Amino acid sequence: NFRCRSAFKLLEIDDKFRLLQPGCSVVDCGAAPGAWSQVAVHRVNSAGTDPAAPPGTVVGIDVLHIPPLDGAHFLSCHDVTAPPTHAKLLELLPGGQAHVILSDMAPNASGFREMDHVKLITMCFSLLDLAEKILLPGGSLLCKYWDGILAHELQEKLSRVFNSVQTLKPNASRKDSAERYFLARIYKKPEK
Ligand code: SAM
Repeated sequence: NFRCRSAFKLLEIDDKFRLLQPGCSVVDCGAAPGAWSQVAVHRVNSAGTDPAAPPGTVVGIDVLHIPPLDGAHFLSCHDVTAPPTHAKLLELLPGGQAHVILSDMAPNASGFREMDHVKLITMCFSLLDLAEKILLPGGSLLCKYWDGILAHELQEKLSRVFNSVQTLKPNASRKDSAERYFLARIYKKPEK
């Protein structure tokens, strides 16, 4: 039983792209109420359910409270865009590194489509700073955005540091919503 229907979007994406392998370290940004983390715990084996497979790590972060989940570490009441949160992540992740960053983050929608779009894209930009601190070379980033004028700029920034960037619209995502996901794969550290 999933805590939220959003689980089906991640299942659909992961069935196709196999981002979440046993033993992987995953950061789940905007994790409340915890459905994506449930999927991640299961797939990376972070609860150790499959003794024959390597155990992974799942760290979930949200500004809201996230109810506890076996196999996940949660940073409730933490802002993903705040540097102190990055510091805590470095401590929780094995070797301070992650294979995958997931983000289903969304600000509270004001109803003004363009304003909400800009807010969410700005949050996505901060994921690039996070990636620079924790994402392993070759790692992946899956992030939700609302389509609009700045989507292209986000795609361009992602393309500078990932070998492959594609736009996804899962079947489980409402057809009439502006919701999309960027799947960025094969991370290379940015050149300074
Ligand atoms: N993927 C989640 C699941 O399956 O249970 C649902 C995520 S929900 C669509 C979006 C979440 O992003 C909300 O819980 C919200 O509190 C969180 N959020 C928004 N801004 C955030 C921020 N700056 N830092 C952390 N979480 C944030």
